[in-house]
Amino acid sequence: MRKVTVGVDVGGTNIKLGLVRKAGRIIARTCLETKVYARHPAKLIQAMAEGIASLLRQNGFKKQNVQGVGIGLPGLVDPVKGHVIFLPNIPGWKNIPLRKHLEKKVGLEVFLDNDVNVMTLGEWRFGAGQGSDDMIGMTLGTGVGAGLILGGALYRGPGFGAGELGHIPVNLTGPKCSCPSFACLETYVGNGPLQRRAAKIFRHPGITLEEVFALAKQGNQKALGFWEEAGEYVGTALVGVVNVLNPTKIVIGGGVANTARFLFPAIRRQIKGRAMPVQAKMARVVRAKLGDDAGLVGSRVLVETEQNIK
Ligand SMILES: [Zn+2]
Repeated sequence: MRKVTVGVDVGGTNIKLGLVRKAGRIIARTCLETKVYARHPAKLIQAMAEGIASLLRQNGFKKQNVQGVGIGLPGLVDPVKGHVIFLPNIPGWKNIPLRKHLEKKVGLEVFLDNDVNVMTLGEWRFGAGQGSDDMIGMTLGTGVGAGLILGGALYRGPGFGAGELGHIPVNLTGPKCSCPSFACLETYVGNGPLQRRAAKIFRHPGITLEEVFALAKQGNQKALGFWEEAGEYVGTALVGVVNVLNPTKIVIGGGVANTARFLFPAIRRQIKGRAMPVQAKMARVVRAKLGDDAGLVGSRVLVETEQNIK
């Protein structure tokens, strides 16, 4: 009986590999260092194949016990062709037919998607999004992104570019963004801009967001105001999303979501106060449950949904 899927979660620092059982249980894992392979996609594909083979061998799985391999990548991916179109933070990855190369090496079916989509699939099926057929999975970290579950399925858009919630404009003028625009949500609440604003407010260039979080926990008014303002920006963008898509759950994860107790009340206030009443009432803002495992857990859901099995 086919029982296990292999998950691969490609991040800017690490590449996590894991064996995932039914219900999203991770039973074994290993890790590669991304920078070693940054400019060498062929080497990385070889390392992935070897990592997968040794994970299976060490845990007593033969290929016939494996349902498939699911991969989440930090960038634009064509899940239909199985191509990596572009990874902004990993140099050398442009138009790489990853699925074809890896399938040849490992002899298993391979599925790819954008990492935020994969995380969203994981939270939807096994995490905080369970029970919702219309869910936004949002990550707040270095970048701000989202995956969209609409009508019980992942919505990718015809160019696989849907869900770029970090690039919703939240002001008429504002900081230049990494995209062609300016004043995007990400230019206010990405890790970099938040850190820079904290440095200004606390007059301390090296202050970390963890320190600002700790200060908020101690009741420091400036720190409380800092997180409240961040929540207001996120909430402002979400008002539009809630009105347009009418989601029942907004699942927020990523490093900045650790400050949920300060951030979420401001987000909810924005939605409650500004979104249209029916949509606002239905939209629950909750914290992601799967943490760093969301990518590996979601990779199983990716394989299951793409193969159309459960
Ligand atoms: Zn932008």
